[in-house]
Amino acid sequence: MRVINPATEESIEEIRISSSEEIDETVDRARAGFREWQGFAGLDRVELFHDLARNLRDHADELAEIMTHEGGKPYIENHDEVGWTAACFDYYGEIARDSVGYLPAPIEPQQLALVVKEPIGIVACIVPWNFPLLLAAWKIAPALAAGNSVLLKPSEETPLATRRMIELMDDLPDGVLQGVYGAGDVGDALVGHPGVDMVAFTGSQATGRKVAHVAADRLIRANLELGGKDPFIICDDVDIEIAAQGAVWAACLNAGQVCTSSERFYVMSKVADDFVEASRSFVETLNIGDPMDRSTDIGPMINDPGREKVERHVGEAVEQGAKLVAGGGRHGDRGFYYEPTILTGVTPSMTVMRDETFGPVVPIVEIGSLDEAIDQANSVPYGLGANVYTQDFEKMLKCMRELRAGTVWINDPLTDNDAAPFGGQKGSGIGRELGREGLEAFQDSKHVHIDPKVEKKEWWYPYGPGDESGQRVM
Ligand code: NAD
Repeated sequence: MRVINPATEESIEEIRISSSEEIDETVDRARAGFREWQGFAGLDRVELFHDLARNLRDHADELAEIMTHEGGKPYIENHDEVGWTAACFDYYGEIARDSVGYLPAPIEPQQLALVVKEPIGIVACIVPWNFPLLLAAWKIAPALAAGNSVLLKPSEETPLATRRMIELMDDLPDGVLQGVYGAGDVGDALVGHPGVDMVAFTGSQATGRKVAHVAADRLIRANLELGGKDPFIICDDVDIEIAAQGAVWAACLNAGQVCTSSERFYVMSKVADDFVEASRSFVETLNIGDPMDRSTDIGPMINDPGREKVERHVGEAVEQGAKLVAGGGRHGDRGFYYEPTILTGVTPSMTVMRDETFGPVVPIVEIGSLDEAIDQANSVPYGLGANVYTQDFEKMLKCMRELRAGTVWINDPLTDNDAAPFGGQKGSGIGRELGREGLEAFQDSKHVHIDPKVEKKEWWYPYGPGDESGQRVM
């Protein structure tokens, strides 16, 4: 499997694809490791997690550099990603300690009812290329904290930083965290493997559907984090310069290759022209170039098929009457670069307003009212995130209630929080990552009902004739 640097189109390294025999061995090792890991004391696990997090932070420069070479995301963003990855381990190490179950009220006063939270077993975690370490951490940190063993399959585009992260975590007991390498067929083999008890998947809707089918057939749990087509509403009561900069950042971060990239902009008529102009002049200030350069804002896209998809969406929109205000073409003659692009005059039926574009594109719609903006925002089958800019508290509450999305960001686009659940409503996924929900996703519940006395119960046989009305007599 050849790993390509998307900024130069040169090969970085070839790595071996895991064979089916190796996958079998990995599953066996994971099962053996699970027995030991399941029995770890809570405090020992926390200390180990904090050590893992510290070790990641100590290697942030190295990991950021590998991620930049293999994925093309600017170094600055990759460096941040290592910090967020470490923070996720700190968070789950701690909350797992007080998330081992609870006591419901028992049926009889002398009894004890326990709900015990248990690990599920061997979890296959399959992730995409856009945030290789962070999206892995959102799965492996809670899965390991809950006591599971993990088989982690990075994307075929970005296996190198993941492989290094796994090496840096070798203080974990043997077999508890292992990498499995390859493309879709390897992912499919993992989900279908009889030794795998659960799959946690992040990727496109199309692949998510395939994973869900295999998991359904095997009756194993599947947590699915899928694509998005996030709307961004700009009301007319805000500073338009700031809103435009927030909007362009939310659309172009990682060259628009974020699951929660803002991909549809609904701007109130009164400020629409100003917004277009402010976005256009802000886009002109952005540095496109070598992602290793600290001052680069926008690096290359991951590969040519990704860039061709953006070209198709933008080209089709322009053919159908949309106007290019900025960008709209490739940048440079080496690397998979695409210019940050602004479109106006788009309509809801255009592909660029319906399907996930996954590129640095800002399609802008002028809109008459907040109700109309919310209706259009909710009109696609995705529901991952949604952004709003307003200073009016009533409008904030209305958007909060009416937008169908797993996350609603108001005046601070795309900020994730380890302690709050993340995931999709509608076709953007099933289940949640992060927060307490993100830990529960990797736990099974066991109800234990204890009566300390051995006594015959009144409601057993024989039932007897009952009272005059035929009711049971106790
Ligand atoms: P993808 O669906 O092509 O691949 C994702 C992963 O699944 C890769 O590791 C791939 O090798 C593997 N895979 C492919 N076919 C498989 C199969 N049949 N069975 C099992 N595994 C298989 O997605 P991508 O191009 O790597 O990533 C981009 C997509 O991911 C976008 O749609 C984006 O929105 C989505 N995404 C979602 C989130 C989220 O949290 N909701 C986060 C980031 C990215």
